[in-house]
Amino acid sequence: SDVLICEGIAKSYNRGKPNEITVLKGLDLTIPKGQVTALVAPSGAGKSTLLHIAGLLDTPDAGRVVIDGEDLTGARDGKRTAARREKLGFVYQFHHLLPEFSAAENIILPQLANGAGRADAEARAADLLGRVGLSARMDHRPSALSGGEQQRVAFCRALANAPSLLLADEPTGNLDPATSDTVFDVLMGLVRETGLSALIATHNMELAAKMDRVLRLENGALTEG
Ligand code: ADP
Ligand code: ADP
Repeated sequence: SDVLICEGIAKSYNRGKPNEITVLKGLDLTIPKGQVTALVAPSGAGKSTLLHIAGLLDTPDAGRVVIDGEDLTGARDGKRTAARREKLGFVYQFHHLLPEFSAAENIILPQLANGAGRADAEARAADLLGRVGLSARMDHRPSALSGGEQQRVAFCRALANAPSLLLADEPTGNLDPATSDTVFDVLMGLVRETGLSALIATHNMELAAKMDRVLRLENGALTEG
């Protein structure tokens, strides 16, 4: 079964104006369950636009977005927000952790917001942080953690509600190269252990080569390899 199907996705900005720009031109993308796909794109090619559409943060001008078998293309906002919370995990270049809360609380809070009980949420946060080697850092605030550690917490938060699909935009892009490699391996370990499906945008071809498939976004469409 497929976790994500994007079919015939078209997207332009400034439609009907002199500065209209067509970014996606009938793009197709399918992510089977358990597959980790790299998304490689030159700057300005539409990587963020595609991730926002797949992440239900923006709507295409044409085409369908199906997540876990549910067509959410024309769904109302409440349904899209619920699907984002329950089905999707997001990781960005910058972690956006809540600065006034501990690492553990940053992973517990999204679970409580999703209806989990406190004890279960605490247990899951401890389990996830343990998997990324941060058991000893659970009670630290983000500011007391290194950049690589902060990003590892962000990965755990993305997985807090056991999403079906992880969407990541340059998840190690703000780290120095050595830290980036290590932290990326931690992310891949976490994704593999949990059987998660993922779409991970990166400029780093070495990292892309560690994934199951590499897709290149160019001229509004995807090509393999
Ligand atoms: P990438 O993430 O690959 O750098 P984006 O998806 O951010 O690319 O943007 C693709 C193109 O669409 C770029 O030329 C960008 O300037 C343009 N663009 C993105 N968002 C908007 C917007 N809200 N309004 C107008 N143009 C936009
Ligand atoms: P709520 O306000 O109930 O948290 P949101 O729609 O803001 O609902 O958030 C749902 C999910 O979508 C969260 O995981 C959040 O990280 C993500 N999200 C919301 N808005 C954005 C955005 N502009 N860019 C990236 N991710 C977003």
